Formats: sequence, structure tokens, C-alpha cells
Amino acid sequence: MPELLLVAGERCDAVEGATFDTIDPATATSSGDVAKAGVADVDAALRAATRAFDDGPWPRMSATDRGRVLARVADLLRERTEQFAVAESRSAGHPIGDARWEVGAAAATFEFYAGAANKHHGSVVPVQDDGLDVVLREPVGPCALIVPWNFPLMIACWKVAPALAAGNPIILKPASLTPHTALLLGDLLVEAGVPPECVNVLPGPGGVIGDALVADRRVAKVSFTGETTTGASILKASADNITRVSLELGGKSACVVFADADVERAAADTPMAVFGNAGQDCCARSRILVERSAYDDFVAAFVAATDRITLGAPLDEATEIGPLISAGQRQTSLDYLGIGADEGARLVTGGAMPAEPGYYLSPAVLADVDNSMRVAREEIFGPVASIIPFDDEADAVRIANDSDYGLSGSLWTGSSTRAIRVAKALRTGTLSVNTNRSVRIEAPFGGYKRSGLGRELGMHALDNYTEVKNVFFSAED
Ligand code: NDP
Repeated sequence: MPELLLVAGERCDAVEGATFDTIDPATATSSGDVAKAGVADVDAALRAATRAFDDGPWPRMSATDRGRVLARVADLLRERTEQFAVAESRSAGHPIGDARWEVGAAAATFEFYAGAANKHHGSVVPVQDDGLDVVLREPVGPCALIVPWNFPLMIACWKVAPALAAGNPIILKPASLTPHTALLLGDLLVEAGVPPECVNVLPGPGGVIGDALVADRRVAKVSFTGETTTGASILKASADNITRVSLELGGKSACVVFADADVERAAADTPMAVFGNAGQDCCARSRILVERSAYDDFVAAFVAATDRITLGAPLDEATEIGPLISAGQRQTSLDYLGIGADEGARLVTGGAMPAEPGYYLSPAVLADVDNSMRVAREEIFGPVASIIPFDDEADAVRIANDSDYGLSGSLWTGSSTRAIRVAKALRTGTLSVNTNRSVRIEAPFGGYKRSGLGRELGMHALDNYTEVKNVFFSAED
């Protein structure tokens, strides 16, 4: 039996009865068939979501009551951590410890928006006319939420939680490689009390159902995370309908290490900021910029820390890095190692494929990289780090900003004045000083330049899912 779609909160076959296979990246064997949504299923989901928006209770309920339901979602996620973590681990290849952390982050996202639901509100504007000018925040309507395979559950929750908190029905489109936890989440939303017609989860090919969703006038808002080129095509496809779109796209983030920093600590901490989730992280610090006077010491310590990372089966508790998502994704990383060598970069460690059936690749470190090389300019989305020397502060800022992307980044320095100067000069949406952690649920997250449009998380995300209405009440008799 294939795993079924979720339309109007109920599991069902795809209208055309099609299915597709999913693969466990750790073993390269099937992890089960899933019903494959087509255009007719998009229509069914949108009919449900439109009814829910036009006549259903969710957009009309008090924000406080919606918050109570979202708090139940968080509780259920925490109770079922092991179920979700094992499903995510088998589907996306995440080490089980990381998968448990991801479920915790998903629950924390619902907790945040449970509390935020009744704190995102309008205002009264002191206009010059005699009367009362009120700004209202209203739900926008059915939201198409399109997510990638690298953190399938967590990124889904970054979109689902604020969309629901604001009073909108959702159509969640998981990546075809990782549909399982999105479907589990859909069931859980209904169980927690979200009205069934608000909950639609459609696994199926992005080029078919993603396209159909984006081009449909009933969709009021598209929130997308994925590749920059896909984001650009979504932006074009949404133009005719003037649909609201927010995009979280690729990255080539810089980790800038000055010689006045605790270089040893930076070198020990940074490998997992590139190689975590096998490098399949839009925030990966895949360009590591190190001041020339500390360069050799940093590279030696970074390589030693990299070689200590445990690569292994996702369900093994000791594993720190599992397989890549697919044979193709691994091949891309291998291709870039070849490109780097041709360009003159020096492979210091890694790039080996263990004799396992899964899509494993040991973390690879390229030293003596120049920022003009393709390995420094293009997002690899695999376990490949490029270490680039720089001469002084101005050189560091110039190199860090010389990128098409601007999603995330880190800055390591012992000088607070330098930290302020450089933090202000870097063109990136998120920057961490003397740490490599990027994402905080309470704070906005998103990219400059070709890394995206709009912000997720924090109170900022609620702006994406609400309309602003201005009402003026005249006081003139
Ligand atoms: P894709 O852009 O290929 O896919 C992302 C999602 O979009 C999937 O659900 C996919 O469906 C769907 N999709 C594909 N084509 C279309 C289309 N024409 N219209 C609508 N939806 C479509 O990215 P990947 O899944 O390959 O994810 C990796 C990329 O995502 C990396 O480049 C990475 O940098 C970026 N990313 C960015 C993040 C951020 O926060 N900025 C976070 C995570 C990843 P299907 O799976 O069926 O093809």
C-alpha cells in the first residue's frame, strides 16, 4: 500500500492513482511507495482550502484560540519525537541525534507561533482627518508552501506554523525525495484541532504540481525554499496573478576568521558548520576566509577536527554525518572536487566514498582556494569546504561580499570594534559573531541578493501571511 495524500485533512489516493518510490539514502533501497499528486489533486486541495478560507472557522477564530491549537501541535510533536525522528532519518539520511534535534526545532517553531498568533496585530494611525484610522491584519488566503529535502520537517514547520497562526489554510508540497514527515505532520495538525479543510499535503513532482499551484489564482501566497533557479521560475510563474511570493534560496556563506580571534576554537567549531547534514545546508559556511598570518595553523586544526568527524549509518547514535540525499547529489560534490583540482585548489583531506551501498562521501577540505574559482562561487550543497586566505579587514569584507549569494555567515574576532565594523559591512541576511549557529526561531531569517526575498521566522514571517487593511471611521456627523 502506498502512503496516501492528505486532501481536506483526509488520506486519499491520487485522483489518477499514480504512485512513486522513495529511497533510503543510507542503503539505496526503497523506503516505500507514495501516492503521486497530479493537477487534479491540486484542484481538490485548492477547493478545500478555498472553502476553508471563505466559510470555515479557522480564519474567523480568535487568534488566541488558533494559538491554543498550535500549542497542541507542539506538544504532540514532542510526544512523538522518536516516530518523527526515525522517519526523517530514514527519509533524509539525517543522523538520528540531528533528527531528534530537528523535531525539537519543529515543536519550538509551533510553540513560538502559538504565542505569537495574538501578538501580531494592527494599529491606530494618528491621521489628520477627523476620525479613527485603524490598520487591520487579515489572513491572506490559501497558502502554497513548497519545501526542499534537506530539512524536510523543520522547513515545513517554518512555513506551516506562521501560515496557520495568521488564519490561513495550507497546501504543503514536500520535496519528492522526502515526503514522509510532511504527511505525518498533516495528520498531526488535524489531530491537534486544525480544521481538516485547512490541511492539505501533496507529494508529487515539482514541475507538475508545484507549477500548477504557483499558477493558480486561488493561491494567495507562495512560500518557497529551494534552489535559486527554481525560485526565479516561481517568481516568473506568479507574475500574472500578482501572487505574494517569498523565497529562501541558495547560499555560499562566508565564515571570516581574523588572526585576533580564538583561532583554535573557530577551527574546532567550523567543520560542522560546513559538513553538518553532509553539507546540504543553505547556511553551510562553505567559504572559510582566514587571515593570512593564521592561515596555516587554522587549516591544520580545521583538517584535524574534520578527520575526527564520525561518518556513518544515520540510525547509529555515534554518527555525526550520514549519507547525501542521492547518488546525483554525491556526484555533484565529486565533480566539484575535480573542478577545484583543475582550478588549482589543494585537496587536503576527504572526498572518499566508503564501500557502503548508501550515498556516503567523507568531508572534503580544499585549501589555497581563490574566490574567483567555481568552488568558491557556486553552491555545491555537499560536504566540500573551501578555505581562502585574506590580507586585512578590507580584503576580508571585499572577498566575503564578492558573491551572488548573501544568506548567512560567521565572523570570528577578539575585537569588539572590528566585530561591529565588519558586521555592518557584510551583505548577508544572517550573521553570527564568534559562533556558527545561524537560525533562531524568534529572529528573522532570509537572504540578500540571489539568496532570496522576504524573511522567515520571528514576527517577520507573519507579515508574509497577512494582508494589511486600512479602515477610516469618520467622526463627522
Ligand atoms: P529544488 O528547488 O529543486 O526543490 C525545492 C522544492 O521545489 C521541491 O519541493 C521541488 O519539488 C519543488 N519544485 C521543483 N520545481 C518546481 C517548480 N517548477 N515549481 C514549483 N515547485 C518546484 O531544490 P532542492 O530540493 O534540490 O533543494 C536544494 C536547494 O535548496 C539548494 O540549492 C539549497 O541551497 C536550497 N535551499 C535553500 C534554503 C534556504 O533556506 N535558503 C534551505 C534549504 C535548501 P520536487 O522535489 O518534486 O522536485
